[in-house]
Amino acid sequence: MITQRMLAEAQNWRCAYCGGAMRTWPKGPAMATREHLTPRSFGGSDKTDNLVAACEACNMARGRFISPEAFHAFRQHCLADGSWPPLTEPRGAARLHLWAMSRRADKQRQAEARERLKARSRKIGKIRAAHARDERAEPLEW
Ligand SMILES: [Zn+2]
Repeated sequence: MITQRMLAEAQNWRCAYCGGAMRTWPKGPAMATREHLTPRSFGGSDKTDNLVAACEACNMARGRFISPEAFHAFRQHCLADGSWPPLTEPRGAARLHLWAMSRRADKQRQAEARERLKARSRKIGKIRAAHARDERAEPLEW
Protein backbone atom coordinates (compact mmCIF):
# COMPACT_ATOMS: atom_id res chain seq x y z
CA MET A 1 0.00 0.00 0.00
CA ILE A 2 1.39 3.35 -1.04
CA THR A 3 0.75 5.84 1.74
CA GLN A 4 0.37 9.59 1.56
CA ARG A 5 3.61 9.88 3.53
CA MET A 6 5.52 7.90 0.89
CA LEU A 7 4.05 10.01 -1.89
CA ALA A 8 4.69 13.26 -0.02
CA GLU A 9 8.31 12.32 0.64
CA ALA A 10 8.78 11.49 -3.04
CA GLN A 11 7.49 14.97 -3.85
CA ASN A 12 9.68 16.65 -1.23
CA TRP A 13 6.51 17.49 0.75
CA ARG A 14 5.16 19.72 -2.00
CA CYS A 15 1.58 19.46 -3.22
CA ALA A 16 1.21 18.04 -6.74
CA TYR A 17 -1.31 20.73 -7.68
CA CYS A 18 -0.31 23.97 -5.96
CA GLY A 19 3.32 23.28 -5.01
CA GLY A 20 2.59 24.34 -1.44
CA ALA A 21 4.35 22.80 1.56
CA MET A 22 2.50 19.86 3.10
CA ARG A 23 2.66 18.23 6.52
CA THR A 24 1.03 15.31 8.30
CA TRP A 25 -0.03 17.16 11.44
CA PRO A 26 -2.12 19.02 12.50
CA LYS A 27 -5.13 18.43 10.32
CA GLY A 28 -5.92 21.34 8.04
CA PRO A 29 -5.57 22.72 4.54
CA ALA A 30 -1.85 21.88 4.35
CA MET A 31 -2.22 18.26 5.41
CA ALA A 32 -0.85 15.73 2.90
CA THR A 33 -3.46 13.46 1.33
CA ARG A 34 -3.32 10.58 -1.11
CA GLU A 35 -4.79 11.68 -4.43
CA HIS A 36 -5.87 9.65 -7.44
CA LEU A 37 -5.18 11.52 -10.70
CA THR A 38 -7.94 9.55 -12.38
CA PRO A 39 -10.60 8.98 -9.71
CA ARG A 40 -11.18 5.38 -8.70
CA SER A 41 -14.83 5.77 -9.66
CA PHE A 42 -13.61 6.38 -13.24
CA GLY A 43 -11.37 3.38 -13.33
CA GLY A 44 -8.26 4.97 -11.84
CA SER A 45 -5.90 2.46 -10.25
CA ASP A 46 -4.06 2.35 -6.93
CA LYS A 47 -0.72 2.10 -8.76
CA THR A 48 2.04 4.66 -8.48
CA ASP A 49 1.41 6.21 -11.91
CA ASN A 50 -2.08 7.22 -10.78
CA LEU A 51 -1.17 8.44 -7.29
CA VAL A 52 0.20 11.76 -6.08
CA ALA A 53 0.27 13.58 -2.77
CA ALA A 54 -1.90 16.68 -2.68
CA CYS A 55 -2.64 19.10 0.12
CA GLU A 56 -6.05 18.84 1.76
CA ALA A 57 -7.14 22.18 0.27
CA CYS A 58 -6.44 21.06 -3.30
CA ASN A 59 -7.84 17.60 -2.70
CA MET A 60 -11.11 19.06 -1.42
CA ALA A 61 -11.26 21.67 -4.16
CA ARG A 62 -10.76 19.12 -6.86
CA GLY A 63 -14.08 17.65 -5.83
CA ARG A 64 -15.66 15.89 -8.73
CA PHE A 65 -13.31 17.06 -11.44
CA ILE A 66 -12.70 13.96 -13.46
CA SER A 67 -9.56 15.07 -15.22
CA PRO A 68 -6.57 16.63 -13.46
CA GLU A 69 -6.22 18.94 -16.49
CA ALA A 70 -9.72 20.36 -15.98
CA PHE A 71 -8.95 20.90 -12.31
CA HIS A 72 -5.68 22.61 -13.20
CA ALA A 73 -7.52 24.96 -15.61
CA PHE A 74 -10.03 25.77 -12.88
CA ARG A 75 -7.29 26.46 -10.37
CA GLN A 76 -5.46 28.79 -12.79
CA HIS A 77 -8.72 30.66 -13.27
CA CYS A 78 -9.21 31.03 -9.51
CA LEU A 79 -5.61 32.20 -9.01
CA ALA A 80 -6.06 34.84 -11.70
CA ASP A 81 -9.14 36.33 -10.05
CA GLY A 82 -7.88 35.95 -6.48
CA SER A 83 -10.40 33.35 -5.40
CA TRP A 84 -7.95 30.52 -4.65
CA PRO A 85 -8.31 28.47 -2.53
CA PRO A 86 -12.06 28.18 -2.93
CA LEU A 87 -13.87 28.24 0.38
CA THR A 88 -16.61 25.93 -0.69
CA GLU A 89 -17.11 22.97 -2.93
CA PRO A 90 -16.41 24.47 -6.36
CA ARG A 91 -18.54 22.17 -8.42
CA GLY A 92 -21.10 24.78 -9.46
CA ALA A 93 -18.61 27.53 -10.20
CA ALA A 94 -16.23 25.12 -11.89
CA ARG A 95 -18.90 23.75 -14.14
CA LEU A 96 -20.00 27.27 -14.98
CA HIS A 97 -16.45 28.29 -15.80
CA LEU A 98 -15.69 25.25 -17.92
CA TRP A 99 -18.96 25.61 -19.76
CA ALA A 100 -18.41 29.32 -20.35
CA MET A 101 -15.04 28.51 -21.88
CA SER A 102 -16.58 25.92 -24.18
CA ARG A 103 -17.55 26.63 -27.76
CA ARG A 104 -21.13 25.64 -27.10
CA ALA A 105 -21.81 28.75 -25.05
CA ASP A 106 -22.92 31.84 -26.94
CA LYS A 107 -21.56 35.30 -26.16
CA GLN A 108 -24.54 36.45 -24.10
CA ARG A 109 -24.41 33.40 -21.84
CA GLN A 110 -20.65 33.62 -21.49
CA ALA A 111 -21.06 37.20 -20.26
CA GLU A 112 -23.67 36.08 -17.72
CA ALA A 113 -21.41 33.29 -16.50
CA ARG A 114 -18.53 35.74 -16.04
CA GLU A 115 -20.76 38.05 -13.97
CA ARG A 116 -21.79 35.19 -11.68
CA LEU A 117 -18.18 34.18 -11.19
CA LYS A 118 -17.22 37.77 -10.36
CA ALA A 119 -20.00 37.94 -7.77
CA ARG A 120 -18.70 34.74 -6.23
CA SER A 121 -15.17 36.13 -6.06
CA ARG A 122 -16.42 39.28 -4.32
CA LYS A 123 -18.22 37.16 -1.74
CA ILE A 124 -15.07 35.14 -1.02
CA GLY A 125 -13.05 38.36 -0.81
CA LYS A 126 -15.41 39.72 1.85
CA ILE A 127 -15.12 36.54 3.91
CA ARG A 128 -11.32 36.65 3.64
CA ALA A 129 -11.24 40.31 4.68
CA ALA A 130 -13.35 39.48 7.74
CA HIS A 131 -10.88 36.78 8.68
CA ALA A 132 -7.95 39.12 8.25
CA ARG A 133 -9.54 41.61 10.66
CA ASP A 134 -10.51 39.15 13.36
CA GLU A 135 -8.43 36.11 14.19
CA ARG A 136 -11.20 34.81 16.39
CA ALA A 137 -13.53 34.50 13.41
CA GLU A 138 -14.87 31.06 12.61
CA PRO A 139 -12.35 28.84 10.83
CA LEU A 140 -12.48 28.92 7.05
CA GLU A 141 -14.51 26.15 5.52
CA TRP A 142 -12.52 23.67 3.51
ZN1 LIG B 1 -2.23 22.02 -2.89
